[in-house]
Amino acid sequence: MNEKNDFYKGLIINAPYAYVCVKETHNTFENSEGFFLIDVNPCFCKLIKAGHEELIGRRTADIELLSDMDLEIYFDEIEKNKEEKVIKKFFPKLNQWYRVMIYSPEQGCFALLLMELAEEKDPIMEYSDLMLSVSDAIIEFDSNYIVKTVKTVPSCPIREITGKNINQIFSKKIAAQYIKAFEKVHITEVIEEIEYKDVLHKTGCSWYRARIHMKNKNKRAGFIAVITDITKEKMAELELRIKTEELELFFEMLPGLLCAVDQEGNIVKCNKAWKEIMGYTPEELVTMNIKDLIHENDLSSIIKVVLELKKHNGFKQHVSRCLKKDGSYCYISWNCCYDGECFYAIASDISKIKAFEKELMAQKRFLKTLIDTIPDYIYYKDKEGRYLGCNKAVAEDIFMLKEEEIIGKNDIEIQDNEFSKNCIKQDRKVLEQKKTMIYEEKVEPPGKTIYLETIKTPFYNDEGSVSGVIGVSRDITNRLISQEKIKESEERFRQLAENIEEAFWLSTDTEMLYISPGFERIWDRSRDCIYEDIFNLRNYIYKEDKKKILRILNTKEYKVNGYFNEKYRIVKPDGTLRWVWEKIFPIRDENGKIVRRAGIIEDITTLKIAEEVVARTREEMMQVELRKKSVELQQLGELEKLRTDFFANLSHELRTPINLILAALKMIEINDQETEDKTMSNHKYLKIMKQNSYRLMRLINNLIDVTRLDAGFLSFNASTWDIIYILKSITHSVAIYAKSKNIALSFESEVDSIFIKCDPDKIERILLNLLSNAIKYNKDNGSIKVFVSKLDKELLISVSDTGIGIPKDKLNLIFERFKQVDSRLTKEGEGSGIGLSLVKAFVEMHGGKITVDSILGMGTDFSIKLPIHGGKDCINDRIMENEDCDDLRIERIRMEFSDIYGIEF
Ligand code: ADP
Repeated sequence: MNEKNDFYKGLIINAPYAYVCVKETHNTFENSEGFFLIDVNPCFCKLIKAGHEELIGRRTADIELLSDMDLEIYFDEIEKNKEEKVIKKFFPKLNQWYRVMIYSPEQGCFALLLMELAEEKDPIMEYSDLMLSVSDAIIEFDSNYIVKTVKTVPSCPIREITGKNINQIFSKKIAAQYIKAFEKVHITEVIEEIEYKDVLHKTGCSWYRARIHMKNKNKRAGFIAVITDITKEKMAELELRIKTEELELFFEMLPGLLCAVDQEGNIVKCNKAWKEIMGYTPEELVTMNIKDLIHENDLSSIIKVVLELKKHNGFKQHVSRCLKKDGSYCYISWNCCYDGECFYAIASDISKIKAFEKELMAQKRFLKTLIDTIPDYIYYKDKEGRYLGCNKAVAEDIFMLKEEEIIGKNDIEIQDNEFSKNCIKQDRKVLEQKKTMIYEEKVEPPGKTIYLETIKTPFYNDEGSVSGVIGVSRDITNRLISQEKIKESEERFRQLAENIEEAFWLSTDTEMLYISPGFERIWDRSRDCIYEDIFNLRNYIYKEDKKKILRILNTKEYKVNGYFNEKYRIVKPDGTLRWVWEKIFPIRDENGKIVRRAGIIEDITTLKIAEEVVARTREEMMQVELRKKSVELQQLGELEKLRTDFFANLSHELRTPINLILAALKMIEINDQETEDKTMSNHKYLKIMKQNSYRLMRLINNLIDVTRLDAGFLSFNASTWDIIYILKSITHSVAIYAKSKNIALSFESEVDSIFIKCDPDKIERILLNLLSNAIKYNKDNGSIKVFVSKLDKELLISVSDTGIGIPKDKLNLIFERFKQVDSRLTKEGEGSGIGLSLVKAFVEMHGGKITVDSILGMGTDFSIKLPIHGGKDCINDRIMENEDCDDLRIERIRMEFSDIYGIEF
């Protein structure tokens, strides 16, 4: 045991660190309480700069290295925990940091080993070390809280308070804090800490921390308060707290999403904005992993960001779709950083921005389509003249490139020519003057020339400074060409107008725009007066025409339609008159409104004179003609009279002798019968004379009838007769004559009687004529048939024979006057060609029609159709039955048949 002790002793004596052993004594040497040095090693002596003997038995407090208070605290702890304690401590006396190992080799005895900490410059220490090393004062209270002793550090003297009650030295509040701590220490026997703000030092108000423990574990002994100025610490803490609070507040107040995510992706912290934007509460979020929120398609890209951040630190921006609590996704823009432990992200919901972006894109597309459909050339350039965009027309028609090939380039880079140079010049002007400019330019893409009217205007950014130029060019090639053409035609028109004889004018309603020199030639007046006042054009109209012309020019019709076409006279300065013909035409705008009037005035004086001459001549000629006509008419009338007279005379002259001959012949005949003295030859001659007399008579009668017919004097005595009876009796009367010619004559009627309106004399002439022809042109043993039938409204009378017939081509001629069929077919000397023409006239007088049908060599059939009308009133019945009538008929038969040879009269 002793050996061991010696070993340790030797170790301590030679140790390179200071060793000191202290013992708490009560009344050991000086009968005073406290800690005393009972052993030190040479290193300690060196440190304190005192000898071994000098130090042993001295109070530790005297060497001003360790206060009793400090030691008491350490030893309390060691005794309690039953283990050594190692602390770092700054000894102000030595002005050096030491590592201090404290242990208790035996009850009531404590050893301290002090090892210099040369490297420790930074005064960061454990709180307890700090407390002890920087304690400002130690106050000892008795059990009644009355200050027993006060120990202050020299640098910070404390005012005299010994013997005073705690309530006297501290404010009520602080005293209460102390008393509460005393009571707690009393119960727990553990050191209690309180912090307060007080004026302890004269230096001013400071923060203090008091560590309170019981003195000597004796409850009656009182309490010790080790007081440390913690103002700086407190201030720093306060500042940190304020800063932390501010940060937290800021964190919560930030409208964006904030979150911290650990390495595994678990959400560690987040702010309230999540609730508002995404629907999750911070409590919900801290149970979630960030992967639960990211859209699966965006996961890979966010992992990439995480890896990059781990590698390079710094900030990274990233957009991903995040799941909201309602199940929908929104676009979140993340701004992330990594601090080696966590990822921090500040994010914002950019769904709206994304939606705007989409809308903007759609609008951009729409605008692009729109400007592409515009035939004008549209483009915009930045301040440096580089194309930012253009429409299809620019790309295709002007540069013949794709839009992508133009964007970002300036004009010279696209094509180096005059057009490009001018473009740049004009752009610069627009940018410098900040004004819209309009100018014409010419561009010549391969194979064509395009004339452009270009409007260039500057455009501005949000700050109001010029950002570039917008250009809109319109193809005016056609316009220029047509303007050129208009100019040409205007020139041609002017030349034409200047040279024409007529006066041409063009005016508005109040102003004469142009009047050609023709005016001066016609009016003999200067055009100036018309230019001065357009109404002077109407000043020189001859007074007799003026009123009419002005009236027309004032009509609504002229004002609306704009057309005028009149001839009138004007007065020349020498008083002579000229005839003019003026035509006015309207010129309208696209709305149909009359904007101009054009007039052409022609000098028609010569024409008018010629017209008058022609009119006069025509009148004269007409009068001559009229006179001639009236003479002719007169002559005609006279001629007609002469002719009628002549015929009347002729018939009288012809008839008279024949009548006399006939009468004489009759007398001879009668005498012959009475005397019976007759010779055959006489009889024969008499017969010839008689027949020829009848023939002559017939001819004359026919001629007279023709004349009457022509003159309109042929009588028509119609009344209602039984036509069947008339026809039957005539046929019967003729039968005997036919028989003498060996021709069979028959009469047949489908009706017994029918009354129609007719002239029996004319009917007799018709039938006798037809029968006479039928006999005349018949053959030997031939036959004639008179057939009557009733049709619907007509009576059909047909006379058919078996004679020589009429050639087809002659059928139409036989009813014409004096027309006879070829003489070879007819018997010589028979007929005059008048008979059938009269028959036709008589039939037509009855309102009837006659037709003929014939087969050459076989026979002829004449058909007469007479209308059936008239009633039974005033019927003439059988009046022709008496004797006289029969005689007269025989006469008439003889006359009609007089040109048939071989007939017995
Ligand atoms: P004409 O007195 O010559 O008979 P008409 O006027 O009675 O004159 O007849 C004209 C002509 O028509 C005749 O000349 C004859 O050639 C022809 N003609 C008239 N009736 C007959 C008939 N029944 N058969 C043949 N020819 C006829």
